[in-house]
Amino acid sequence: MSEAAFASKEEVSVSETTSENTVEQPQHSVIGEGKFSARDVHVFYGDNEAIKGVDLEVESHKVTALIGPSGCGKSTFLRCLNRMNDTIDGCRVTGDILLDGDNIYDPKVDVVQLRARVGMVFQKPNPFPKSIFENVVYGPKIHGLATRQDELEHVAEVSLKRAGLWDEVSDRLDTPGTSLSGGQQQRLCIARAIAVSPEVILMDEPCSALDPIATARIEELIDELREKFSIVIVTHSMQQAARVSQKTAFFHLGELVEKGETEQIFTNPREDRTRDYITGRFG
Ligand code: ADP
Repeated sequence: MSEAAFASKEEVSVSETTSENTVEQPQHSVIGEGKFSARDVHVFYGDNEAIKGVDLEVESHKVTALIGPSGCGKSTFLRCLNRMNDTIDGCRVTGDILLDGDNIYDPKVDVVQLRARVGMVFQKPNPFPKSIFENVVYGPKIHGLATRQDELEHVAEVSLKRAGLWDEVSDRLDTPGTSLSGGQQQRLCIARAIAVSPEVILMDEPCSALDPIATARIEELIDELREKFSIVIVTHSMQQAARVSQKTAFFHLGELVEKGETEQIFTNPREDRTRDYITGRFG
């Protein structure tokens, strides 16, 4: 995507209050140029403004890395993209976040459906206390995407293959997901996320609990997955961002300081704060 597609755009908004958070609703639905289009997003935890007016486009079939020092708001922003912040007491989001042009904070949006379209993989692998098979088919079952046993078996096989885990587990699908190694558990969680055919996968430091070999495997997988999905990844590792992403957004103190092609951010940043961070002067 060109840098222009990352640029902010003006939008008129009116405010609407829900029990959990206050959101700004667009008066006009504007088709974003990216998969996601975030406009003037602010996030507050009580009085603490953790995200301060962020504009960001997320392009389809690319990996977008969110980088920056700890506490700068990367995870908070990521959680805005599938409304996971709704579950945090006292968290308030304002601004517009459009997914394929529709505001995901519109009160009419079914949050369960949204989270099926925008899946999430967390820092620590968190398989359900169920078999490998049941972990993968859980989503398709509750969303009614597959019901017959042969359909469930098909979705389990396809998802596990896509997550690069099938060959390691195909002969033990009935064993607990928790019996796998950390790296395998994380790939199981990725299989679980993709089993409901999401459009976007959010990853919050997905390798931080893994050893270097398991990390390399997940990084390869991320590159394969972008053929089918759009991916947004939070990482504290600049090397990882450089390896896996095509787009990078650098956050600092709740602001989005710079965004662009990953190669440009790492070789020729425009902002001093970005240069200082990537050269290790702070962080
Ligand atoms: P990062 O992912 O870059 O480390 P976070 O998004 O976790 O940053 O945090 C950004 C800011 O928001 C920090 O000041 C942090 O203390 C605050 N914060 C994050 N989560 C919560 C929460 N659940 N409740 C209150 N404050 C939070």
